[in-house]
Amino acid sequence: MSQLEVLAVASELYPLVKTGGLADVAGALPKALKPLGVRMRTLVPGYPAVLAGLQKAKTVKALGEVFGGPARLLSGVADGLEIFALDAPHLYDRPGGPYGGPDGKDFADNARRFAALGRVAASIGQGLVPRWRPQVVHAHDWQAGLTAAYLTYDGGPRPGVVFTIHNLAFQGQFDPRLLGDLGLPPQSFTPDGVEYYGDIGFLKAGVRLADRVTTVSPTYAAEICTPERGMGMDGLLHGRADRLSGILNGIDVETWNPAADPLIAAPYDAARLDARAANKAALQKRLGLTPEPDAPLFGVVSRLSWQKGLDLLLGALPLPMAEGAQLAVLGSGEPAVEQGFRDAAAAWPGRVACVFAYDEPLAHQIQAGADVLAVPSRFEPCGLTQLCALRYAAVPLVARVGGLADTVIDATPMSLASGAATGVQFAPVETPMLESAIRRTLELYRAPQTWRRLQLNGMATDVSWAQSARRYAQLYAGLLIEREA
Ligand code: ADP
Repeated sequence: MSQLEVLAVASELYPLVKTGGLADVAGALPKALKPLGVRMRTLVPGYPAVLAGLQKAKTVKALGEVFGGPARLLSGVADGLEIFALDAPHLYDRPGGPYGGPDGKDFADNARRFAALGRVAASIGQGLVPRWRPQVVHAHDWQAGLTAAYLTYDGGPRPGVVFTIHNLAFQGQFDPRLLGDLGLPPQSFTPDGVEYYGDIGFLKAGVRLADRVTTVSPTYAAEICTPERGMGMDGLLHGRADRLSGILNGIDVETWNPAADPLIAAPYDAARLDARAANKAALQKRLGLTPEPDAPLFGVVSRLSWQKGLDLLLGALPLPMAEGAQLAVLGSGEPAVEQGFRDAAAAWPGRVACVFAYDEPLAHQIQAGADVLAVPSRFEPCGLTQLCALRYAAVPLVARVGGLADTVIDATPMSLASGAATGVQFAPVETPMLESAIRRTLELYRAPQTWRRLQLNGMATDVSWAQSARRYAQLYAGLLIEREA
């Protein structure tokens, strides 16, 4: 079988630049696709961290002026990934994160910054790179959404276009007066093009103009076609349902491997589950929690945003605290949520500990040391932390939404008896239901044999990329067959 050539387009790529799950997906998928005969090269913006991490960098093409300044396309490698970096200092060489400055505000020129990404991705799809032309361009999230628009309105032959929604909450909506500046023709500004409620919609363009639309779990794919969860895009998504599918994310099972994790105190596997106790003790010590081996320890590793429902956990907290539980929180985000946890830590010293930072080693230590990982999200396209939790035998306590519903099997009498149960789910996503789920979790915890069974079932769950990569490979191949027909 000949190799299938794919260009991925993403605004984040682990390990060079990451704010969330998108980076993990973009970093893991090329490696998982390789054994399946798919070569994926990835275009990312040339942020300082990308240029600093790019090895064997060389200039592929000088691009002249791109949206207000000179740019060039670089190629290089990092961590086994084949990367194209769009080096455009006027757009990307600045302090801050990928989307905003150190003040936390979005950059004012994000429309241009990410239109440039889509513009160059489309050009690569049309043959910009000498001796390499992708058969499929796979664009991720709103930042890459205009790729599909340029490929459509440029005319001429185009590769197959796949567009993946990682989170419908971020849609990339901009002033319609920018249309010309972004190099989009007047005829693109229609409901069948880039127009979205009177603005230019980057995500909308990807959804409307790609050949296939995917999102990151089957349940989220169904949810986003409904008015309640569609965030304004449900009509369009519903209309494209025959092109829409949900493919679950996996995690990198080498980075996340409790049997050989250099970041945790005591490595363990299913046969040596007792070694988790040392990780729990180390975590309690590091965070200043009371060193009680039998206290049920709840962990949170999360962005602290409304989506993640952690205010609900704060509301429910008196219940587990009254039952002698502990809570370790790692996260950063909204000041109000941070303050809520700060207050909780003051109210229950030695029982609630918080670290407001982005800290990968601590994320591993919480997964390895906590008994329960809580993910009470109001919506969750896929969610990765519960997958890490399954692999690390931290029993996930999750809201029954999106990918959480698809990846955790609720401990009911039947699923426990059949040996399928891997965690605890609750719905609807409201504090009283979370409270009763916490009560249920604590009962399970106090039945050591049942608890161990839950942990072992979780560890036996396949959370790798293998299955999902096969689904993407099939999607690309199917798309090419359709286009050749
Ligand atoms: P989202 O993409 O919505 O933030 P996901 O669960 O899909 O949520 O992915 C989050 C990823 O980021 C996981 O790999 C998780 O371990 C990691 N993560 C989130 N917050 C932190 C943090 N404060 N420190 C370290 N890792 C974090």
